[in-house]
Parts: sequence; structure tokens; C-alpha cells
Amino acid sequence: MPCGDLLIRRIGRLVPMTGPPIADAALVARAGRVAWIGLERELPAAVGEMPSVDAGGAAVIPGFVDAHTHLVWAGSRRTEFEARLTGVPYDGGGIATTVAATRQASTEELIELTRERAAAALATGTTTLEIKTGYGLTVEAELRLLDAINAVAADVPQRVEATYLGAHAVPPGRDRAGYVAEVISTLPAARALGARWCDVFCDRGAFTVAEARQILTAAAAQGLGGRLHADQIERLGAVPLAAELGCASADHLDRIDEEGAAALARSGTVAVLVPTATLTMRTQDWHQARTLQAAGATIALATDCNPGTSWTESMPYVVQLACLALGMSVEEALRGATLHGARALRRADLGHLGVGAVADAAVLAAEHEVDLVAHLGAAAVRDVVIGGVVVSGSRPAQDPSPDQSSSASSASTST
Ligand SMILES: [Zn+2]
Repeated sequence: MPCGDLLIRRIGRLVPMTGPPIADAALVARAGRVAWIGLERELPAAVGEMPSVDAGGAAVIPGFVDAHTHLVWAGSRRTEFEARLTGVPYDGGGIATTVAATRQASTEELIELTRERAAAALATGTTTLEIKTGYGLTVEAELRLLDAINAVAADVPQRVEATYLGAHAVPPGRDRAGYVAEVISTLPAARALGARWCDVFCDRGAFTVAEARQILTAAAAQGLGGRLHADQIERLGAVPLAAELGCASADHLDRIDEEGAAALARSGTVAVLVPTATLTMRTQDWHQARTLQAAGATIALATDCNPGTSWTESMPYVVQLACLALGMSVEEALRGATLHGARALRRADLGHLGVGAVADAAVLAAEHEVDLVAHLGAAAVRDVVIGGVVVSGSRPAQDPSPDQSSSASSASTST
């Protein structure tokens, strides 16, 4: 995990999320954490010499926290995608297609595919990734996906949170009760392999509320936090369950109603919206954010990156849709993609640039964060900083040197 000292100077607009934006700002990171933010002309002299990056007047925001991805898969869902374009609705059945292809792929192939997706996410400013299993659906196949997630986590600069989603679908030919028992019996091994969360797809065609309750209660007893795919296709009662069990998040929520939104607001369960999935499902229903906002629920945004219903690694694209389709303000959408994404993962140290936070930041390819939303289809992020180290971008950090003209080395950024 990168961890360093860094000065980001000439920031046109610093958007820390913990307070109002600061114009003409600078940010100092020490040992991977934000040590100082403020007006550049008030930069403390005691900062001394450290590697620096010149933002050149661009806006700087916290790195994106993508709290919902299914990054580990093999194969294609293009047939299903084309069918949907002709009006065939999504029913969750395509998961079996991806399970078959994923089981056939070698672990090395899965690691490589997942690493490429994490790299694409990094290039668009994602510094924390939640990654779910769920395309294995046997004990061995699910634990192999956790192995792959661990291998990727050790190899990419981003922070990774692993989620066990053995309850993604009932595998074809399996008895329901038997499969639920198998998912529950796998929880200790999933925990031992580093999973922090357990998720259940609770919807028509997937798992019932009673099954989800059984699985998430057993997961809590094993020390795994709860998350729930809820109200995507039909309103079955998954949202009240997430609130009752104190899940960290309830995700999708395309069918959320006022009662469900109020339950999430009361329980503090974060509502994770995935507008690229809503777009790909072609339901044209964009009331979710308004319903949740009216109830006072906390809204996070995520990619739901998966091969069937949301094939994107790009949080800037998610933020654009959140504004243009869900009707969120730029400020609300960016907070949802950073601070509230971190809240959905119960990480108070991520998703903002207040002093003491982990120094994960994105230097935008724009002087104002509104331009990130308005400039459709453009590369949104120029440089990415993780733990006070420039890990991706067009300009390497400069080492301190008495002679600035000879300081092009980027060696200190690769630690
Ligand atoms: Zn999902």
C-alpha cells in the first residue's frame, strides 16, 4: 500500500468534502495522511522539502470510493445485452452465464482480468474498491474468487474491501435450502480469507427475505458486516430487513418507496445507488435519489461494475448520470462518490481530505468540479494520489532539489 509525503500545490479548487471548497489551495500529506490543507500562500514554512506535484490550477477532490463492484469475472454477456436493446427485460438470469465462464477460467486469468479492471478504475480516480465474489457459487469456486481478490489487492495501489457474495444466485440444479446451508457453512472460510463483508442478492429470482435474514444473521455471528442487494427488480421487503439488521448498505434501490427510504434514514444504513445499472436495465425509472433525499437517507454512488448490467469502471461516468438522470446536484453526487461511499464501507478515514484522513486524492482534468460532470465522455482525471504517493497520471511528482530544472526524477513516487 503506497504511503508517502507529498505536497500538492497550485490547486485551483480543493474540494475536501469536510468543509467548503478552498480556492488557490495546497495540500500536505505526511506518512500517507493529510497533514495540512489551506490557502497556498499560507503554506507553513515548516513543511520543508518533500516530493511535490503541481496541480496547475486544476480542481482536486478525494479519490473515489467505489463501494459496490463485481470485478472478478470471465466471459461475455453481449447476447443478453443485445436482447435488452430489443426490449427483453433483466431478470437476473444472466448471472448463470457469467458463473459458467468464470468457473472455466484459470485463477491466473481471473487475476489478470480483475487487475486490468482495477487499473481502468484507477485511471478514472478510484482509490478504494469494494470487490464481491458471486460468480463461483460452490464452496471451492467462491473461495477461489476470494483468493483472486487477495492477489489483486496485493498488486494494485488501491485499497480493496472484499465481500463474500455466495448468495448471488441459486446455482441451476441446486436445492434452495441446501444451497443456503452451504453459503452459511462457507462463512468462516470466507472470513479467514479476508472477506470483511457478506452480501445477498435479495430479489425476485434470487434469494427471499427469510433466506437473506438467515445468511446475514449467520454472517454477523462470524464477524462479517452486512450488505444487501435490495429493491432492484421488485420490492420484496429487503430494505426493511437491511435496516433491521443494521446493514452497512442497501444497494440498487430502483424500487425504493417512501417507507423504505425512511427505514434506511432511521437505521443509518447507507443507500448505494448504481445509476449505470439502472441505465443498462433500461427501466427509465429515476426517482430513487429524490425519494431517498426526501426521507433524509445517506446516498452513496457506485459502479456495480459487472459484465451483464453495468459494465463500467468509471466513477466519473456514474457521477454524471447521478446528476443528469437521478437529478442530484454536483455537490451531492461527488459526496456520494467519495465521503458516503466510504461511509457505506464504514471507513471514516477515507473519502475526504480533512486533516488526518488517508491522503487519497484525484487531480481533475478540469479547473472546477462541475466541469467533471458537464464535460461528457472526456477523460476526467489527470493524476491520482494514494496514501500521499502519485500512483497514476501524466506528471510524475518532483523530488525536492536545490536546482528545480534537474528534478524530473520520479523515483520517490514508486515506494
Ligand atoms: Zn451488484
